[in-house]
Amino acid sequence: MSVLDRFLRYVQIDSRADDSSQTCPTTPGQLEMQRLLLGELRVIGLEDLVLDDNGYLMATIPATRGRDADPAIGFIAHVDTSPEMSGTNVKPIVHRAWDGRDIVLPDDRTAALRTSEQPDLAAQIGHDIVTASGTTLLGADDKAGVAAIVEAAAQLVAHPEIPHGRIRIGFTPDEEIGRGATRFDVARFGAAYAYTLDGGNAGELEYESFSADLMRVVFIGFNTHPGYAKGKMVNAIRAAARFVDRLPRERLSPETTDGYDGFVHPYQIEASVDRTSVRVLLRDHVTAKLREQEHLLRSLAEVVADETGTRSEIEVQEQYRNMREVLDRHPHIVERARAAIRAVGLTPIEKPIRGGTDGSRLSFMGLPTPNLFAGEHNFHSRLEWTSRQDLEKAVAVILAIARA
Ligand SMILES: [Zn+2]
Repeated sequence: MSVLDRFLRYVQIDSRADDSSQTCPTTPGQLEMQRLLLGELRVIGLEDLVLDDNGYLMATIPATRGRDADPAIGFIAHVDTSPEMSGTNVKPIVHRAWDGRDIVLPDDRTAALRTSEQPDLAAQIGHDIVTASGTTLLGADDKAGVAAIVEAAAQLVAHPEIPHGRIRIGFTPDEEIGRGATRFDVARFGAAYAYTLDGGNAGELEYESFSADLMRVVFIGFNTHPGYAKGKMVNAIRAAARFVDRLPRERLSPETTDGYDGFVHPYQIEASVDRTSVRVLLRDHVTAKLREQEHLLRSLAEVVADETGTRSEIEVQEQYRNMREVLDRHPHIVERARAAIRAVGLTPIEKPIRGGTDGSRLSFMGLPTPNLFAGEHNFHSRLEWTSRQDLEKAVAVILAIARA
């Protein structure tokens, strides 16, 4: 059994998440995947196997002799795939020793991977590239991470001469719809810190995410028959349109920012004359700047309400926080990953995430959790791909972290 064999088996299970479902996990395919993993981890010989009622799977690799006093560390991956693309009947294709020519996917000939459009792929000539067949995603996000963790567990159990402390493994549901950390039992997991394996290019190490709030701005107007509305009707849609039109554009917008620049992003409107609500994402790597964004939008809403004769109501909901605020207090966690990446001959690639991961929330739930590469490319797309070499490097980094 190789990490590639494991990966090819996992991607054929349809474990797409469904954000319209209120169950946990949201789809039965995720449980099917967890049951398969439970069986595999049992055969490998792991301990404390638990698949809980919410579909979270946890297991332990016991410490080797003399390493019992080490703090337990965790490795985490998610078993669901993105709701944005079909995960039904995924047919993985291995392009062995790929020669650099265009990879045209057989079930939809318009879907093709070309080095001219895929700089990361161009760097993998000679590698065994894995794609789907053109009508589905591949599911490397995050079955690459799952496969790497299971394979690393198998190798650690088979090679007791590799010294390591207690290791905890966690496979979570519904990460893609933002619920992966919600029912994660940090106390039961019992690790001092963890790493998610859910990143891209070999060498990537992510420990800075956005801090994120969701703002809902509601304009309340007054509806009446439009034929007899003179002097009476107050149209909340007009107020909301004016508000959106006055949001910053040249700065503080997703269309005009990158790197460390934050933004406010109106992304959904529910409109009626009587009541129109605008949902706005507030994002910045510095949490304090979310307050500035909030103040800016609050005063803008007040001005618009004044001008239009509507009333405005605002609600702000915390979504997640920059994991760096936690990780900076424990620099050895990132350093351990950095050293492991170097130890397997790779160069650490460290960039801020312009979004969040399960680790953003887990870090604030008491489990500091940066993110490591697993060889995921073009995620959520029919052009998603990974390579055997990337998967093997992810396994090697897990082993290097474990033995450190
Ligand atoms: Zn993912």
